[in-house]
Amino acid sequence: MSPQHKATRPVRQNRTGRGTATPKSICVTGGAGFLGSHLCARLIGEGHRVTCIDNFHTGRPANVAALARSNRFELVEHDVMDALPEQLPAFDEIYNLACPASPVHYQSDPVRTALICAEGAANVLYRAQRDGARVMHASTSEIYGDPEVHPQREDYCGNVNTVGPRSCYDEGKRFAETLFTDFAHQSGVVVKIVRIFNTYGPRMQPDDGRVVSNFILQALRGEDITVYGEGQQTRSFCYVDDLIEGFVRLMASGPEVDGPVNIGNPAEITVGELARIIIEMTGSPSKLVHRPLPVDDPRRRRPDITRASTLLGWGPRVPLTEGLEKTIRFFANLNQPLAPAQSR
Ligand code: NAD
Ligand code: UDP
Repeated sequence: MSPQHKATRPVRQNRTGRGTATPKSICVTGGAGFLGSHLCARLIGEGHRVTCIDNFHTGRPANVAALARSNRFELVEHDVMDALPEQLPAFDEIYNLACPASPVHYQSDPVRTALICAEGAANVLYRAQRDGARVMHASTSEIYGDPEVHPQREDYCGNVNTVGPRSCYDEGKRFAETLFTDFAHQSGVVVKIVRIFNTYGPRMQPDDGRVVSNFILQALRGEDITVYGEGQQTRSFCYVDDLIEGFVRLMASGPEVDGPVNIGNPAEITVGELARIIIEMTGSPSKLVHRPLPVDDPRRRRPDITRASTLLGWGPRVPLTEGLEKTIRFFANLNQPLAPAQSR
């Protein structure tokens, strides 16, 4: 794929009717994935020039195919384990999302997962320093591990196993936070860190084994719904549009927003309840079946979003049933044969 820079169009109006005063050159690593594709769409909608860097490990060009019609969008096939291509334009902002994110994917090659968190982060930071770009790094609620403090505030240091099946991701993401923070202090590069809690919505990968995509696919096919353990573990699910709004606000924030910020929806439910809601919403004949709880599966998770709310004026707006409705519609309309849901 040619990494050539394309010309900028006049500023467009975004969805809220506001134009972007100064279009920026923005890089999104992992931009062809679930979250990245929504972020690219939002940034293009605001009139920016967007370079999406992805090696298609878990993402797909199809996720950003609609954006390719804009001459302000460029898709570059590249692995962030290597330095970002020299010939790309200088960036004003870099969003670093490149990393497999679901347990099925990140555990399939754990050494590589840990190294992407470290080397990918370093390559993004060196490029940001060269270009004078600010960076937003996608961290995760997984850095809290199986939390002993509930809900999780940013100053909670977590409870993470260093040598379990989730460690490649959890510890990789913890290391990346350290690297971004120290690099910012030493180099002056402006760094923002978002701790993302479980997010769902259209363009989730059907084969990545996450609970929302698994349950919806199973319900739509009338298959058994695979609840791991007793289904009493909790998660707090955020709709993707809400999360992306948080990303954009965090990137634009001033120096007072220093250190990681949780972005997630504090509405907490058990996995068993989620299964029952999805069965009801799809009108599915599916029954719940129980499977062993994966090792180190966190028992509960809910963000404290005080920082996001007070510093960014951010809060979730999309209730679970509304977000699930859109996600169910997405999976029901997939015009390709549905891949089997993955299990661990
Ligand atoms: P995803 O798997 O859909 O997207 C990740 C993207 O990164 C994919 O397009 C993949 O091809 C790309 N990628 C992976 N390794 C790469 C490499 N070496 N070089 C270039 N591209 C590479 O996952 P997602 O859900 O969109 O997650 C995006 C980011 O958000 C990840 O960093 C993830 O850790 C973080 N996150 C997501 C969630 C969530 O609920 N979705 C929660 C916490 C954190
Ligand atoms: N889960 C489940 N059935 C599935 C997939 C996941 O019960 O088919 C459970 C999983 O054990 C975990 C929760 O749902 O407790 C969320 O899993 P997911 O992989 O979506 O996210 P994460 O564990 O990374 O929060």
